[in-house]
Amino acid sequence: MTDSIDTEVPAAPVRAVTQERKIVTAVPGPKSQELHRRRQAVVSDGVSSALPVYIAHANGAVLVDIDGNQFVDFGAGIGVTTVGHTEASVVAAAASQLQDVTHTLFTITPYEQYVRVAELLAQHTPGAWAKKSVLVNSGAEAVENGVKIARKFTGRRAVAVLDHAYHGRTNLTMAMNYKAMPYATGFGPFAGDVYHAPNSYPYRDGLNGEDAAARTIAYLEKVIGASDLACLVVEPIQGEGGFMVPADGYLPILQRWCTEHGVVMIADEIQSGMARTGRWFASEHFGWEPDLVLSAKGIAGGLPLAAVTGRAEIMDASQPGGLGGTFGGNPVACAAAVAVFETIEQNGLLAEAERIERTLKAGLERLRARYDVIGEIRGLGAMVAIELVQPGTGATTKRPNSEAVSQIVAYAAQHGILFLNAGTWGNVLRFLPSLAMSDALIDDALTVLDDAFAALG
Ligand SMILES: *Cc1c(COP(=O)(O)O)cnc(C)c1O
Repeated sequence: MTDSIDTEVPAAPVRAVTQERKIVTAVPGPKSQELHRRRQAVVSDGVSSALPVYIAHANGAVLVDIDGNQFVDFGAGIGVTTVGHTEASVVAAAASQLQDVTHTLFTITPYEQYVRVAELLAQHTPGAWAKKSVLVNSGAEAVENGVKIARKFTGRRAVAVLDHAYHGRTNLTMAMNYKAMPYATGFGPFAGDVYHAPNSYPYRDGLNGEDAAARTIAYLEKVIGASDLACLVVEPIQGEGGFMVPADGYLPILQRWCTEHGVVMIADEIQSGMARTGRWFASEHFGWEPDLVLSAKGIAGGLPLAAVTGRAEIMDASQPGGLGGTFGGNPVACAAAVAVFETIEQNGLLAEAERIERTLKAGLERLRARYDVIGEIRGLGAMVAIELVQPGTGATTKRPNSEAVSQIVAYAAQHGILFLNAGTWGNVLRFLPSLAMSDALIDDALTVLDDAFAALG
């Protein structure tokens, strides 16, 4: 740190990391193995770690573990450090805020940072109408609040979600997920009045947007009935489900149907929002203007913050005191979020997401020409995935190939690349890098990926 500080927000003490992979020990290394033994004695087995290398510091698109290994990070904490690890402007804003005020509780004595985040959300979420927000701590809490607000506004009970959805690990959101294992198995009883409607999954259902929407709407009308339906919660691009991009027209048709029938349509943009896909919110790609938008993951550069934002008349339906929570909209997290909005704007990060999509998809197309286990390449911006199928079945049965994904993820980790899997069958390899990821790092990762495919035999 410098000892003479002239600017209002001091330069952040960020530790730079060379943007390259470097493996100097076994993976995990001896120090990580030792720490893992300590962890196993005191951390619940219900908490897992995809790659148990313990991280000492991180910067840009690279993680450094306690053994000195460097990993090129295609997970970004599941799309959280979208602006890059320890992005200087975010660290500076949070550090400065820590010194001014760490906590008051907005529902007791408020502060400007919360209001500023709500202004920025109103400005950047789709739709030109008056919008309001509530700030909470996690994505699941945002989903819970979105449902609460929609029920209060409509006076109705039922909640609809789509097949292959993921919405969190709280009681209500466990009931909203598609996959029981590992998220729900044994954790019941679950919240009632949650209904799972068919989604749009062009690779597997072959339906255009109109037909897929008709199928979804038929379910909503027949199984629930519009007059009992409070909300339909939809990820514009499904995250954990495997980055399914819905067919053109699907989402706006559903929104029109919801509007006609007084149903609140909620975009779960927790993974897809905040510049991830090359737009502020992924809904924009599809011409969808949701009634409510849920944000979390990327909103505060790694600090815990989430939001429900939407039409003022819906957001105002709750009685005073009905929304909130002790840590919701914490000042430090809010200060970081304001810096994230400014960094996206000032550093032109929407264009960076588009650059990442171009580089990544071009490389993946080259691999697909050579490896017939790659069934589909899909996604937008820095939210790209490949779905792997059994060799030779791509054109016919599209049988999921989760073993190939597991082997590739393991191979890449040994070579200093962190890839994440996804998908209902675990057969999707997803690329969710920070927008600080350079083309050079992507190309480097693609060569490792090529070797990993070759090693499948
Ligand atoms: C991660 C995620 C959630 C849950 O967020 P948490 O902060 O983990 O509670 C909900 N919806 C989507 C689409 C997500 O990706």
